[in-house]
Amino acid sequence: MSYGVVWFKRDLRLVDHAALSAAARRGPVLCLYIVEPSLWAQPDAARQHLEFTLESLRELYRALRHLGGRLHVVTGEVVAVLARLHAAAPFTALYAHEETGNAHTYARDLAVGRWCRAQGVGWQEFPQFGVVRRLADRDRWQGLWEEFVARPPAALPGAVAFVPLPWPDALPPGSEGLGLDPWQPPRRQPGGRAAGLAVLADFLDARSGQYRGGISSPLSAPSACSRLSPYLAYGCLSLREVVQATRLRQAELPAGDRRGAGLAAFISRLYWHCHFIQKLESEPALEYANLHRGYDALREDEWNPAHFVALAAGRTGWPLVDACVAMLRETGWINFRMRAMLVSVAAYPLWLHWRPVGLWLAQEFLDYEPGIHWSQMQMQSGTTGINLPRIYNPLKQARDHDPKGSFVRHWLPYLRRVPDAWIFEPWRMPPELRVRYGLGEGVLPMPPVDLEAATRLAKARLFALRAQPEIKAAKAAIVARHGSRKRSAQVRSSTKDTRGQLSLKF
Ligand SMILES: Cc1cc2nc3c(=O)[nH]c(=O)nc-3n(C[C@H](O)[C@H](O)[C@H](O)COP(=O)(O)OP(=O)(O)OC[C@H]3O[C@@H](n4cnc5c(N)ncnc54)[C@H](O)[C@@H]3O)c2cc1C
Repeated sequence: MSYGVVWFKRDLRLVDHAALSAAARRGPVLCLYIVEPSLWAQPDAARQHLEFTLESLRELYRALRHLGGRLHVVTGEVVAVLARLHAAAPFTALYAHEETGNAHTYARDLAVGRWCRAQGVGWQEFPQFGVVRRLADRDRWQGLWEEFVARPPAALPGAVAFVPLPWPDALPPGSEGLGLDPWQPPRRQPGGRAAGLAVLADFLDARSGQYRGGISSPLSAPSACSRLSPYLAYGCLSLREVVQATRLRQAELPAGDRRGAGLAAFISRLYWHCHFIQKLESEPALEYANLHRGYDALREDEWNPAHFVALAAGRTGWPLVDACVAMLRETGWINFRMRAMLVSVAAYPLWLHWRPVGLWLAQEFLDYEPGIHWSQMQMQSGTTGINLPRIYNPLKQARDHDPKGSFVRHWLPYLRRVPDAWIFEPWRMPPELRVRYGLGEGVLPMPPVDLEAATRLAKARLFALRAQPEIKAAKAAIVARHGSRKRSAQVRSSTKDTRGQLSLKF
């Protein structure tokens, strides 16, 4: 019997699933998810990513049961699993989504392609984001994105014929045995489509009213932001369905409703989502090499382990930085501005290279999406060469976005009794006051560098490099390949409120 294998990866849903829809229209399908030990051994993988995936798989399993089929979950390396399956029950076609992943998944997909060709198995991949494979011309990209999100969602045929795995499997396998650190944020978002749909509905109906003006402060951001990032990253929701549901909601809202403005700004972010992933799709090396190779000598030889340890342990002494790390450890999420600030502190006063910092954050972010993540890591570290470096002062950010110190007191209990006068720079407190407020020896971390002097030095080094003629000359080619061309009314309107976020684009 001829059948097709639908290989689920980061597309854990049945709705608007182009690969499943195409396979089911053609004939019987076997639905497969492969738990790849080598993938989970990568330095950007974390237990929370796996657990979120397993939660999503359980729901997908139930959804397929409902259709009369099954999701088969097999542990092993992809080519080996496909070869075993093909030997036991030969299939003619493999269906999957186009993944813009890390270097490991890129190499694995090339190997899968070679195996398919050798076996005469047709492999069809379908875009799930507005990201274009083998994009020839960046100028056409915006139009292609619009076309992609406006298309009707992929629909399943009335009846789907399912094929079982030719050997017994268990669902889902445990996460043991993959060698991942057992720790995960106790208050992270749960996996699965139902949770994603509930978050989307709540955002469209109510929370979008806080989006404008609410997304920058770490105090308001947890409820003002959509919180859809992990559901998009693992494909529990399709990008297209989120854009379409948002546009529908926009059309229903009365003029002047705050939610309308919030949703317009939100759609701009969904565009950025694909804009950033497109960069990695077009240039996979940006995961580990400076986008502008003229910056190769900037930080490469100067790794300071003590600085990194202080940052990752949330012990830099700068309260807002440490509070963000504490929140991240507890929830797996912080908002855009605080992510940018963390990376800026790492890249400038602490002078740390973006790659190890990015690996640490990839594990900390539940929503780790390689295309967005590595592009942003480079952008906030000043190595793209094409955008004006933006350096965040964590003390100013604290004064602007947590003026009463509520956020830092919440996440850093040792600061709870510290009076307002010292909350932004507690290390400056005289010793007798520290003792009075319970900040004895070893409780209060001390900043590893003088913030102002270290930032000044970092800026001087970066700008000296930027000023060199050959560095300037190489910019044009990067802009042509990766620069944003977006100039829509929607994006222009969102600049007013996001205080500089648009200037972060490149
Ligand atoms: C250093 C750094 C690393 C980041 N790494 C990731 C990552 O691994 N995964 C990830 O999804 N986002 C990442 N972001 C972007 C952004 O911070 C998150 O998308 C956002 O905080 C997620 O929360 P939300 O879904 O509530 O966002 P919302 O503001 O509600 O945005 C909606 C969606 O738009 C997309 N989006 C939002 N902001 C951006 C942006 N600046 N660039 C590209 N897409 C955006 C995301 O898919 C997000 O879910 C990173 C930002 C920085 C500065």
